Amino acid sequence: MSFSIAPDLADFIQGLPKTETHLHIEGALPWDFMRRIDAVKYAEPPDSWANDYKYNDFAHFEEHLLGLAFQWYTSPEKYHEAAKAIFAAHVAAGVRYVETSFASGVVEFLGLDGKAVCDAIVAAKPPELELRVFMGIHHSGFIPAMLPIIEKSLTWKNLTGLDLHGTETLPIDPITPRIWQEARDAGKVTKAHAGEFCGPDFVRYVMDELGITRIQHGVRAAEDPFLPKELAERGVILDVCPISNHKLVPGIRLENHPIRALFDAGVKVTISTDDPLTFGNTISEEYAVLHDITGFSRNELKQICRYGLENALVDDETKAAWLEEMPKN
Ligand SMILES: [Zn+2]
Repeated sequence: MSFSIAPDLADFIQGLPKTETHLHIEGALPWDFMRRIDAVKYAEPPDSWANDYKYNDFAHFEEHLLGLAFQWYTSPEKYHEAAKAIFAAHVAAGVRYVETSFASGVVEFLGLDGKAVCDAIVAAKPPELELRVFMGIHHSGFIPAMLPIIEKSLTWKNLTGLDLHGTETLPIDPITPRIWQEARDAGKVTKAHAGEFCGPDFVRYVMDELGITRIQHGVRAAEDPFLPKELAERGVILDVCPISNHKLVPGIRLENHPIRALFDAGVKVTISTDDPLTFGNTISEEYAVLHDITGFSRNELKQICRYGLENALVDDETKAAWLEEMPKN
């Protein structure tokens, strides 16, 4: 199942020079790879691909995702192979710039070499795409055995930065602010998932205590009467995943999605797919549903696309060339 897109709208979306900056590489495994694991068991995509599907809670979602993804992701070579297919699809969809993360859990729980995983993903980049790779660390991922690896990761050339992810409602390890500061001191970019399952207070926490200006989701910031304006004034970017929220976050549907209020308040919002393996979405569909269901005009879709390009971690010349590709009408 997928959201239908009128041909004229599909052409318009295809022509946008898009970005995708909130994408978990494990959650981006193309369904064909599941069929390669077991053609009979995975002949059809899961129920969660249905347009009106809703997960019970984050644990339900995470169990589903990990149960699928880690049948494939067992080595850096497997990361490389999947990443090649994932990025080829980006190029075909007219995406110019991707930021993706891999889970530090593969080091912690599977014993994989994090640097080799990072390098394998970067090596899968097609020439048409700019790519930045982050390591996602869950709230409890700062265990003693992981700390030296996390510290060391700040020297990996191919690692652009760190992202805080996993179950948002779990307590934050007190070491997190220090690590995030060290990462920036080492020239890395820091992000954090916030405002998906926790409310405005946690969004404020990651801004004020972790020094974050790039928030993954952040949509529940809209529940606070003052926070959206503050996000806009501080130039904080929210990498929003509308279909993911629609299928996972209690109370949020595309029809009432807070991206509308955030955008109207002047917040720099971008859109991404998060985990298409479990949501069955594509980046083009994200644009289409914002237009057809959430009520964004084509000009507003262009502005969202522009926010993504303007905030890409590339030189000004590249950025200007991409912005020049934006359809004039
Ligand atoms: Zn995410």
